[in-house]
Amino acid sequence: MTQRAYNFNAGPAALPLDVLKQAQEQFVDFNGAGMSIMEMSHRSAQYEQVHEETASLMRELFGIPDNYHVLFLQGGASTQFAMLPMNLLRPGRPGAYIMTGSWADKALKEAKLIGETAIAASTEGDRFTRMPDPSEIRIPEHAAYVHLTSNETIEGTQYAVYPDTGSVPLVADMSSDILSRPVDVSQFGVIYAGAQKNLGPSGVTVVIIRDDLAAESPEGVPTMLRYSTHAKNRSLYNTPPSFSIYMVNLVLKWIKSNGGVAAIERQNREKTDLIYNVIDASGGFYRGVAHPASRSRMNVTFRLGDEELEKKFVKESEAEGFVGLKGHRSVGGLRASTYNAVPYESCKALADFMNEFMRRYG
Ligand SMILES: *Cc1c(COP(=O)(O)O)cnc(C)c1O
Repeated sequence: MTQRAYNFNAGPAALPLDVLKQAQEQFVDFNGAGMSIMEMSHRSAQYEQVHEETASLMRELFGIPDNYHVLFLQGGASTQFAMLPMNLLRPGRPGAYIMTGSWADKALKEAKLIGETAIAASTEGDRFTRMPDPSEIRIPEHAAYVHLTSNETIEGTQYAVYPDTGSVPLVADMSSDILSRPVDVSQFGVIYAGAQKNLGPSGVTVVIIRDDLAAESPEGVPTMLRYSTHAKNRSLYNTPPSFSIYMVNLVLKWIKSNGGVAAIERQNREKTDLIYNVIDASGGFYRGVAHPASRSRMNVTFRLGDEELEKKFVKESEAEGFVGLKGHRSVGGLRASTYNAVPYESCKALADFMNEFMRRYG
């Protein structure tokens, strides 16, 4: 087998090697069907079994209560930026947004196209280097929901604790940290996540929505963009992204065999500690972007003294087998995305490389 890269891509991102091997084994002939899972009807008993099992595994691993639907949709998290306000906004009832960086900004921009919005809090004054403290959040009267971005993938910040929004439904974009740590799902009205960071390949978006919020939408919302359509039809109203859902199924089984989400969280802490410890011990050679209390366990963002040195870092890391360490084009710097499937060994290799790079240029 060829050497696997140290893959720190931000998304699509690393998948567990065991999962890839299993998919490879079943690729041409799925469980004796004489065809791949991509080639069979989404109404077949064999596909339906995978479909239902994926939803059950999601419920089991994430502790999703019975009064929530688990939906498998298409269009990415970006479509949820619009679908959410289309379904949940009502006249005189704004969607309140917590502004924490690039993805929160995109969510707000879409909601503005649909209806009334408000800003519940913003950390722009601190250049989005931290998540807000619950005490900073102001929820407007009659808000339809409060929207937050659990992990800002580009800036490298993550909520340590989620705000309590009382009776106002809390909505979270968890695209880049779903299943990376245990979460009290009952605290949320809606959770959504594109799969391609922590759950599987691109092509499927998981939406976890409380029954009452999926029950009805304003008149005029197209059928495919109504949560109720997919809730009533167990995400089989039209052809689902069957291969992507199958891959999510394998990833969920991999999480389960790794001890579940609590064990994954411990591993994610150990992995990112390796890198943050190098940053903190570097005497300023490396500078972490995020405020320590808001540091992400999924996207470690850092800078070097100047852009030339950062370019050199990227170039030399690539020569050593590292992929994806360049920061997002909008913010620059460096970023190591350390999602669930990124092995400890990759993070250890990166920490060693960082120390070696500092020895040479520090
Ligand atoms: C990647 C990402 C998105 C966009 O997801 P798509 O599936 O590409 O639409 C949205 N929110 C966050 C937090 C992300 O990391």
